[in-house]
Amino acid sequence: MKRILLIEDNPGDALLIEESLKRSSDDAYTIKHVVRVADAVNLLKAKHRFDIVISDLSLPDAQGIETVKAINKATKKTPVIYMTGTNHDSELALAAIQQGAQDYVAKSKYTAESLSRIIKFAIERKKYQEQVAQARAKTKKLRTLTQMLKVRTEELIMLNQAKDDFISLASHQLRTPASGVKQYVGMVLEGYAGELDPETKELLQLAYESNERQLAIVNDLLHVAQLDAGKVRLNKENVNITEMLHNIVNEQLGKFHSREQALTYDMVSKDIEAYVDPQRMRMVIENIIDNANKYTDDGKKVTVAVHETKQQIIVAVEDQGVGIAPADIPHIFQKFNRVSNTRSVLAGGSGLGMYWAKQIIDLHNGNLKVESEVGVGSKFIISLPKN
Ligand code: ADP
Repeated sequence: MKRILLIEDNPGDALLIEESLKRSSDDAYTIKHVVRVADAVNLLKAKHRFDIVISDLSLPDAQGIETVKAINKATKKTPVIYMTGTNHDSELALAAIQQGAQDYVAKSKYTAESLSRIIKFAIERKKYQEQVAQARAKTKKLRTLTQMLKVRTEELIMLNQAKDDFISLASHQLRTPASGVKQYVGMVLEGYAGELDPETKELLQLAYESNERQLAIVNDLLHVAQLDAGKVRLNKENVNITEMLHNIVNEQLGKFHSREQALTYDMVSKDIEAYVDPQRMRMVIENIIDNANKYTDDGKKVTVAVHETKQQIIVAVEDQGVGIAPADIPHIFQKFNRVSNTRSVLAGGSGLGMYWAKQIIDLHNGNLKVESEVGVGSKFIISLPKN
Protein backbone atom coordinates (compact mmCIF):
# COMPACT_ATOMS: atom_id res chain seq x y z
CA MET A 1 0.00 0.00 0.00
CA LYS A 2 1.52 3.31 -1.13
CA ARG A 3 0.73 6.45 0.88
CA ILE A 4 0.33 9.54 -1.30
CA LEU A 5 0.15 13.17 -0.22
CA LEU A 6 -1.72 15.02 -2.97
CA ILE A 7 -1.52 18.83 -3.02
CA GLU A 8 -4.03 20.14 -5.54
CA ASP A 9 -6.40 23.11 -5.32
CA ASN A 10 -8.41 22.23 -8.43
CA PRO A 11 -11.10 19.72 -7.34
CA GLY A 12 -11.50 18.39 -10.89
CA ASP A 13 -7.76 17.70 -11.30
CA ALA A 14 -7.59 16.14 -7.85
CA LEU A 15 -10.54 13.86 -8.61
CA LEU A 16 -8.98 12.83 -11.90
CA ILE A 17 -5.72 11.85 -10.20
CA GLU A 18 -7.54 9.92 -7.46
CA GLU A 19 -9.70 8.11 -10.02
CA SER A 20 -6.69 7.22 -12.18
CA LEU A 21 -4.86 5.78 -9.21
CA LYS A 22 -7.88 3.77 -8.11
CA ARG A 23 -8.06 2.29 -11.60
CA SER A 24 -4.40 1.44 -11.71
CA SER A 25 -3.82 -2.30 -11.66
CA ASP A 26 -0.23 -2.00 -10.36
CA ASP A 27 -0.55 -0.95 -6.75
CA ALA A 28 -2.97 0.02 -4.02
CA TYR A 29 -2.90 3.62 -2.85
CA THR A 30 -4.15 5.66 0.07
CA ILE A 31 -4.40 9.32 -0.74
CA LYS A 32 -4.31 12.27 1.64
CA HIS A 33 -5.56 15.29 -0.27
CA VAL A 34 -4.81 18.89 0.79
CA VAL A 35 -5.37 22.14 -1.05
CA ARG A 36 -2.69 24.42 0.36
CA VAL A 37 1.09 24.02 0.61
CA ALA A 38 0.95 25.11 4.25
CA ASP A 39 -1.27 22.11 5.10
CA ALA A 40 1.10 19.75 3.32
CA VAL A 41 4.10 21.25 5.09
CA ASN A 42 2.36 20.79 8.45
CA LEU A 43 1.67 17.13 7.72
CA LEU A 44 5.24 16.50 6.54
CA LYS A 45 6.73 18.29 9.53
CA ALA A 46 4.45 16.38 11.90
CA LYS A 47 6.30 13.28 10.64
CA HIS A 48 3.32 11.81 8.82
CA ARG A 49 4.96 9.27 6.60
CA PHE A 50 4.22 9.36 2.87
CA ASP A 51 5.77 7.28 0.12
CA ILE A 52 5.38 10.13 -2.34
CA VAL A 53 4.16 13.73 -2.68
CA ILE A 54 2.23 14.71 -5.80
CA SER A 55 1.83 18.45 -6.04
CA ASP A 56 0.45 21.07 -8.35
CA LEU A 57 2.82 23.99 -8.88
CA SER A 58 0.20 26.78 -8.66
CA LEU A 59 -1.54 26.72 -5.33
CA PRO A 60 -3.52 29.28 -3.37
CA ASP A 61 -0.69 29.98 -0.93
CA ALA A 62 2.37 29.38 -3.14
CA GLN A 63 3.24 29.79 -6.78
CA GLY A 64 5.77 27.95 -8.92
CA ILE A 65 9.24 27.76 -7.42
CA GLU A 66 7.88 28.92 -4.03
CA THR A 67 5.87 25.71 -3.89
CA VAL A 68 9.00 23.67 -4.68
CA LYS A 69 11.03 25.46 -2.03
CA ALA A 70 8.38 25.07 0.66
CA ILE A 71 8.01 21.33 0.03
CA ASN A 72 11.77 20.84 -0.19
CA LYS A 73 12.17 22.55 3.14
CA ALA A 74 9.56 20.32 4.75
CA THR A 75 10.94 16.99 3.49
CA LYS A 76 14.19 15.81 2.04
CA LYS A 77 13.48 12.10 2.10
CA THR A 78 10.07 11.84 0.38
CA PRO A 79 10.11 11.77 -3.42
CA VAL A 80 8.07 14.56 -5.08
CA ILE A 81 6.30 14.68 -8.45
CA TYR A 82 4.91 17.96 -9.81
CA MET A 83 1.83 18.24 -11.98
CA THR A 84 2.12 20.85 -14.71
CA GLY A 85 -0.84 22.51 -16.32
CA THR A 86 0.42 24.78 -19.09
CA ASN A 87 3.51 24.93 -21.35
CA HIS A 88 4.85 27.71 -19.17
CA ASP A 89 4.72 25.30 -16.21
CA SER A 90 7.05 22.77 -17.85
CA GLU A 91 10.01 25.18 -17.51
CA LEU A 92 9.18 25.52 -13.87
CA ALA A 93 8.94 21.74 -13.57
CA LEU A 94 12.45 21.45 -14.96
CA ALA A 95 13.68 23.92 -12.34
CA ALA A 96 11.91 21.79 -9.73
CA ILE A 97 13.80 18.72 -10.92
CA GLN A 98 17.06 20.63 -10.62
CA GLN A 99 16.06 21.25 -7.01
CA GLY A 100 15.56 17.57 -6.29
CA ALA A 101 12.07 16.69 -7.56
CA GLN A 102 11.82 13.21 -9.03
CA ASP A 103 9.62 13.95 -12.06
CA TYR A 104 6.88 16.07 -13.52
CA VAL A 105 3.66 15.04 -15.24
CA ALA A 106 1.63 17.12 -17.66
CA LYS A 107 -1.94 17.06 -16.40
CA SER A 108 -3.32 16.58 -19.89
CA LYS A 109 -1.03 13.71 -20.81
CA TYR A 110 -1.03 10.96 -18.25
CA THR A 111 -3.02 7.73 -18.14
CA ALA A 112 -3.79 5.62 -15.10
CA GLU A 113 -1.03 3.21 -16.07
CA SER A 114 1.60 5.85 -16.87
CA LEU A 115 0.92 7.75 -13.63
CA SER A 116 1.21 4.57 -11.63
CA ARG A 117 4.50 3.73 -13.36
CA ILE A 118 5.89 7.25 -12.83
CA ILE A 119 5.05 7.00 -9.11
CA LYS A 120 6.70 3.60 -8.82
CA PHE A 121 9.89 4.73 -10.59
CA ALA A 122 10.03 7.95 -8.61
CA ILE A 123 9.90 6.02 -5.33
CA GLU A 124 12.58 3.57 -6.48
CA ARG A 125 14.80 6.31 -7.90
CA LYS A 126 14.59 8.29 -4.67
CA LYS A 127 15.48 5.18 -2.68
CA TYR A 128 18.48 4.61 -4.93
CA GLN A 129 19.52 8.28 -4.67
CA GLU A 130 19.30 8.03 -0.87
CA GLN A 131 21.51 4.94 -0.89
CA VAL A 132 24.04 6.66 -3.16
CA ALA A 133 23.99 9.74 -0.92
CA GLN A 134 24.50 7.56 2.16
CA ALA A 135 27.34 5.66 0.49
CA ARG A 136 28.92 8.98 -0.54
CA ALA A 137 28.63 10.31 3.00
CA LYS A 138 30.19 7.09 4.33
CA THR A 139 33.02 7.28 1.79
CA LYS A 140 33.64 10.89 2.78
CA LYS A 141 33.68 9.95 6.44
CA LEU A 142 36.03 7.04 5.72
CA ARG A 143 38.33 9.33 3.75
CA THR A 144 38.46 11.75 6.66
CA LEU A 145 39.10 8.89 9.09
CA THR A 146 41.82 7.44 6.84
CA GLN A 147 43.46 10.85 6.68
CA MET A 148 43.28 11.19 10.47
CA LEU A 149 44.73 7.71 10.89
CA LYS A 150 47.54 8.54 8.50
CA VAL A 151 48.44 11.66 10.45
CA ARG A 152 48.21 9.74 13.76
CA THR A 153 50.36 6.90 12.40
CA GLU A 154 52.97 9.39 11.24
CA GLU A 155 52.95 10.99 14.68
CA LEU A 156 53.31 7.59 16.34
CA ILE A 157 56.15 6.60 14.01
CA MET A 158 57.94 9.84 14.90
CA LEU A 159 57.31 9.33 18.62
CA ASN A 160 58.54 5.75 18.38
CA GLN A 161 61.61 6.93 16.50
CA ALA A 162 62.24 9.57 19.17
CA LYS A 163 61.90 6.89 21.87
CA ASP A 164 64.32 4.55 20.03
CA ASP A 165 66.80 7.40 19.57
CA PHE A 166 66.51 8.34 23.23
CA ILE A 167 67.06 4.77 24.47
CA SER A 168 69.95 4.32 22.08
CA LEU A 169 71.59 7.62 23.07
CA ALA A 170 70.97 7.20 26.80
CA SER A 171 72.33 3.65 26.87
CA HIS A 172 75.41 4.69 24.86
CA GLN A 173 76.07 7.55 27.27
CA LEU A 174 75.50 5.28 30.30
CA ARG A 175 77.76 2.55 29.02
CA THR A 176 80.96 4.59 28.87
CA PRO A 177 81.12 5.64 32.55
CA ALA A 178 79.83 2.21 33.72
CA SER A 179 82.61 0.53 31.71
CA GLY A 180 85.10 2.92 33.33
CA VAL A 181 83.91 1.89 36.78
CA LYS A 182 84.23 -1.79 35.82
CA GLN A 183 87.77 -1.26 34.59
CA TYR A 184 89.02 0.73 37.59
CA VAL A 185 87.31 -1.35 40.28
CA GLY A 186 88.64 -4.43 38.49
CA MET A 187 92.17 -3.02 38.61
CA VAL A 188 91.90 -2.20 42.33
CA LEU A 189 90.54 -5.73 42.98
CA GLU A 190 93.50 -7.21 41.12
CA GLY A 191 95.88 -5.34 43.42
CA TYR A 192 97.08 -2.55 41.11
CA ALA A 193 96.63 -0.03 43.92
CA GLY A 194 98.26 -2.20 46.53
CA GLU A 195 97.20 -4.95 48.88
CA LEU A 196 93.53 -4.81 50.03
CA ASP A 197 92.30 -5.86 53.42
CA PRO A 198 89.61 -8.57 53.18
CA GLU A 199 86.75 -6.27 54.22
CA THR A 200 87.58 -3.65 51.56
CA LYS A 201 88.00 -6.41 49.00
CA GLU A 202 84.58 -7.86 49.82
CA LEU A 203 82.89 -4.47 49.53
CA LEU A 204 84.65 -3.71 46.25
CA GLN A 205 83.64 -7.15 44.96
CA LEU A 206 80.00 -6.27 45.68
CA ALA A 207 80.45 -2.93 43.90
CA TYR A 208 81.96 -4.77 40.92
CA GLU A 209 79.03 -7.22 40.72
CA SER A 210 76.52 -4.41 41.02
CA ASN A 211 78.24 -2.58 38.21
CA GLU A 212 78.21 -5.77 36.10
CA ARG A 213 74.41 -5.99 36.51
CA GLN A 214 74.04 -2.35 35.53
CA LEU A 215 76.19 -2.91 32.45
CA ALA A 216 74.10 -5.96 31.52
CA ILE A 217 70.92 -3.85 31.62
CA VAL A 218 72.50 -1.05 29.59
CA ASN A 219 73.65 -3.61 27.04
CA ASP A 220 70.15 -5.13 26.87
CA LEU A 221 68.74 -1.66 26.19
CA LEU A 222 71.29 -1.02 23.47
CA HIS A 223 70.64 -4.34 21.76
CA VAL A 224 66.88 -3.88 21.81
CA ALA A 225 67.13 -0.28 20.53
CA GLN A 226 69.27 -1.58 17.66
CA LEU A 227 66.76 -4.36 16.93
CA ASP A 228 63.71 -2.08 17.03
CA ALA A 229 65.41 0.42 14.76
CA GLY A 230 65.76 -2.43 12.23
CA LYS A 231 69.53 -2.08 12.39
CA VAL A 232 70.34 -5.72 13.11
CA ARG A 233 71.96 -7.37 10.10
CA LEU A 234 72.93 -10.96 10.73
CA ASN A 235 76.50 -11.94 9.79
CA LYS A 236 75.87 -15.60 9.13
CA GLU A 237 78.53 -18.23 8.67
CA ASN A 238 78.91 -21.95 9.20
CA VAL A 239 79.37 -22.45 12.92
CA ASN A 240 80.21 -25.58 14.86
CA ILE A 241 77.35 -25.47 17.39
CA THR A 242 78.67 -28.46 19.37
CA GLU A 243 81.88 -26.62 20.04
CA MET A 244 80.19 -23.28 20.71
CA LEU A 245 78.00 -24.86 23.40
CA HIS A 246 81.01 -26.59 24.92
CA ASN A 247 82.82 -23.24 25.21
CA ILE A 248 79.82 -21.37 26.62
CA VAL A 249 79.20 -24.07 29.25
CA ASN A 250 82.86 -24.00 30.32
CA GLU A 251 82.81 -20.21 30.65
CA GLN A 252 79.64 -20.24 32.76
CA LEU A 253 80.66 -23.06 35.09
CA GLY A 254 82.11 -20.69 37.75
CA LYS A 255 78.80 -18.89 38.17
CA PHE A 256 76.94 -22.18 38.63
CA HIS A 257 79.48 -23.70 41.01
CA SER A 258 79.41 -20.60 43.23
CA ARG A 259 75.76 -21.51 43.88
CA GLU A 260 76.42 -25.23 44.09
CA GLN A 261 74.47 -25.78 40.90
CA ALA A 262 75.43 -28.32 38.29
CA LEU A 263 75.71 -27.25 34.66
CA THR A 264 76.02 -30.26 32.40
CA TYR A 265 76.34 -30.50 28.68
CA ASP A 266 75.04 -33.58 26.89
CA MET A 267 77.71 -33.35 24.25
CA VAL A 268 77.14 -35.25 21.05
CA SER A 269 80.08 -37.05 19.54
CA LYS A 270 79.40 -35.60 16.12
CA ASP A 271 80.01 -31.95 15.21
CA ILE A 272 76.80 -30.16 14.30
CA GLU A 273 77.14 -27.21 11.98
CA ALA A 274 74.64 -24.40 11.73
CA TYR A 275 74.54 -21.39 9.43
CA VAL A 276 74.10 -18.60 11.98
CA ASP A 277 75.44 -15.25 13.20
CA PRO A 278 77.95 -16.65 15.74
CA GLN A 279 78.15 -13.57 17.96
CA ARG A 280 74.39 -13.16 18.32
CA MET A 281 73.66 -16.89 18.60
CA ARG A 282 76.21 -17.07 21.41
CA MET A 283 74.50 -14.17 23.20
CA VAL A 284 71.07 -15.81 22.87
CA ILE A 285 72.33 -19.09 24.35
CA GLU A 286 74.28 -17.28 27.10
CA ASN A 287 71.14 -15.33 27.95
CA ILE A 288 69.05 -18.50 28.28
CA ILE A 289 71.72 -20.27 30.36
CA ASP A 290 72.09 -17.16 32.51
CA ASN A 291 68.31 -17.14 33.15
CA ALA A 292 68.45 -20.85 34.02
CA ASN A 293 71.04 -19.96 36.62
CA LYS A 294 69.08 -16.95 37.91
CA TYR A 295 65.69 -18.64 38.16
CA THR A 296 66.93 -21.90 39.72
CA ASP A 297 67.54 -22.40 43.42
CA ASP A 298 70.98 -23.27 44.78
CA GLY A 299 72.05 -26.89 44.53
CA LYS A 300 69.88 -27.71 41.47
CA LYS A 301 70.86 -28.78 37.99
CA VAL A 302 70.81 -27.24 34.52
CA THR A 303 71.38 -29.30 31.38
CA VAL A 304 72.36 -28.07 27.93
CA ALA A 305 71.85 -30.36 24.94
CA VAL A 306 71.96 -30.26 21.16
CA HIS A 307 70.71 -32.65 18.50
CA GLU A 308 69.73 -32.54 14.90
CA THR A 309 66.88 -33.89 12.83
CA LYS A 310 66.65 -34.04 9.06
CA GLN A 311 65.61 -30.41 8.82
CA GLN A 312 66.51 -28.78 12.09
CA ILE A 313 69.18 -28.23 14.71
CA ILE A 314 67.74 -28.17 18.19
CA VAL A 315 69.43 -26.63 21.22
CA ALA A 316 67.73 -27.09 24.59
CA VAL A 317 68.48 -25.65 28.03
CA GLU A 318 66.60 -27.40 30.81
CA ASP A 319 66.57 -26.27 34.42
CA GLN A 320 65.05 -27.41 37.72
CA GLY A 321 64.04 -23.84 38.52
CA VAL A 322 60.95 -22.01 39.69
CA GLY A 323 59.09 -22.62 36.41
CA ILE A 324 56.63 -20.41 34.55
CA ALA A 325 52.81 -20.59 34.82
CA PRO A 326 51.07 -21.41 31.49
CA ALA A 327 49.33 -17.99 31.46
CA ASP A 328 52.69 -16.20 31.80
CA ILE A 329 54.50 -18.09 29.06
CA PRO A 330 53.39 -15.84 26.14
CA HIS A 331 54.43 -12.73 28.13
CA ILE A 332 58.00 -13.68 28.78
CA PHE A 333 58.88 -12.93 25.14
CA GLN A 334 57.38 -9.44 25.36
CA LYS A 335 59.46 -6.32 25.76
CA PHE A 336 60.09 -5.09 29.32
CA ASN A 337 57.98 -7.92 30.67
CA ARG A 338 59.19 -9.46 33.90
CA VAL A 339 57.04 -12.25 35.26
CA SER A 340 57.19 -12.23 39.01
CA ASN A 341 58.25 -15.47 40.66
CA THR A 342 59.99 -16.53 43.83
CA ARG A 343 63.39 -15.53 42.45
CA SER A 344 62.61 -12.51 40.27
CA VAL A 345 63.34 -9.81 42.87
CA LEU A 346 66.60 -11.44 43.91
CA ALA A 347 67.64 -12.18 40.36
CA GLY A 348 66.94 -8.68 38.96
CA GLY A 349 66.82 -7.94 35.25
CA SER A 350 65.42 -5.72 32.52
CA GLY A 351 62.75 -7.97 31.04
CA LEU A 352 64.44 -7.54 27.65
CA GLY A 353 66.59 -10.65 27.31
CA MET A 354 63.96 -13.11 26.10
CA TYR A 355 62.32 -10.51 23.83
CA TRP A 356 65.67 -9.90 22.16
CA ALA A 357 66.51 -13.61 22.01
CA LYS A 358 63.21 -14.49 20.31
CA GLN A 359 63.60 -11.71 17.74
CA ILE A 360 67.11 -12.86 16.92
CA ILE A 361 66.00 -16.48 16.52
CA ASP A 362 63.10 -15.29 14.33
CA LEU A 363 65.61 -13.40 12.15
CA HIS A 364 67.36 -16.76 11.69
CA ASN A 365 64.00 -18.19 10.55
CA GLY A 366 64.11 -20.37 13.63
CA ASN A 367 61.88 -20.74 16.63
CA LEU A 368 62.33 -20.16 20.36
CA LYS A 369 59.83 -21.71 22.71
CA VAL A 370 59.57 -22.76 26.32
CA GLU A 371 57.99 -25.71 28.07
CA SER A 372 57.60 -25.24 31.78
CA GLU A 373 55.93 -26.37 34.96
CA VAL A 374 55.79 -24.24 38.09
CA GLY A 375 58.00 -25.68 40.83
CA VAL A 376 59.48 -28.30 38.49
CA GLY A 377 61.49 -26.35 35.92
CA SER A 378 61.67 -24.91 32.43
CA LYS A 379 63.05 -26.04 29.11
CA PHE A 380 63.95 -23.41 26.52
CA ILE A 381 64.17 -24.88 23.03
CA ILE A 382 65.80 -23.19 20.03
CA SER A 383 65.08 -24.77 16.63
CA LEU A 384 67.16 -23.62 13.68
CA PRO A 385 66.54 -24.59 10.08
CA LYS A 386 69.27 -26.47 8.29
CA ASN A 387 70.39 -24.99 5.00
P1 ADP B 1 64.74 -10.73 32.95
O1 ADP B 1 65.71 -9.65 32.75
O2 ADP B 1 63.60 -10.34 33.85
O3 ADP B 1 65.35 -12.04 33.32
P2 ADP B 1 64.06 -11.99 30.43
O4 ADP B 1 63.52 -11.35 29.22
O5 ADP B 1 65.37 -12.65 30.34
O6 ADP B 1 64.03 -10.85 31.52
O7 ADP B 1 62.98 -13.01 30.94
C1 ADP B 1 61.65 -12.59 31.06
C2 ADP B 1 60.96 -13.27 32.24
O8 ADP B 1 60.85 -14.66 31.94
C3 ADP B 1 61.73 -13.20 33.53
O9 ADP B 1 61.36 -12.05 34.25
C4 ADP B 1 61.32 -14.49 34.24
O10 ADP B 1 60.14 -14.28 34.99
C5 ADP B 1 60.98 -15.44 33.12
N1 ADP B 1 62.05 -16.44 32.90
C6 ADP B 1 63.04 -16.42 31.98
N2 ADP B 1 63.79 -17.51 32.04
C7 ADP B 1 63.28 -18.28 33.02
C8 ADP B 1 63.61 -19.56 33.58
N3 ADP B 1 64.64 -20.28 33.13
N4 ADP B 1 62.85 -20.02 34.58
C9 ADP B 1 61.79 -19.30 35.05
N5 ADP B 1 61.42 -18.10 34.56
C10 ADP B 1 62.15 -17.58 33.57
